[in-house]
Amino acid sequence: MACRGRAGQDELFRFVFASGEYRWDRTRRAPGRGAYLHASCLDDARARRALPRALRAAGSRPGQLEAALAEARDWALGGVPA
Ligand SMILES: [Zn+2]
Repeated sequence: MACRGRAGQDELFRFVFASGEYRWDRTRRAPGRGAYLHASCLDDARARRALPRALRAAGSRPGQLEAALAEARDWALGGVPA
């Protein structure tokens, strides 16, 4: 987990790395290693490069991780994970 804390999974965004791409896993059911982030931690995680460490991922296209994080952040600004 990239985020530690007491939040339930329904408060966290799940990300996976599969087939060379980061994805925001909205369903939280995608196979593979996942990392969970609070909405408020998305920007911090990007700055700290937390997801590549958490997911043991390497080799994605430049900007692709940022795009996945931005997608989740934009969604978070419109509400809370349902
Ligand atoms: Zn967090």
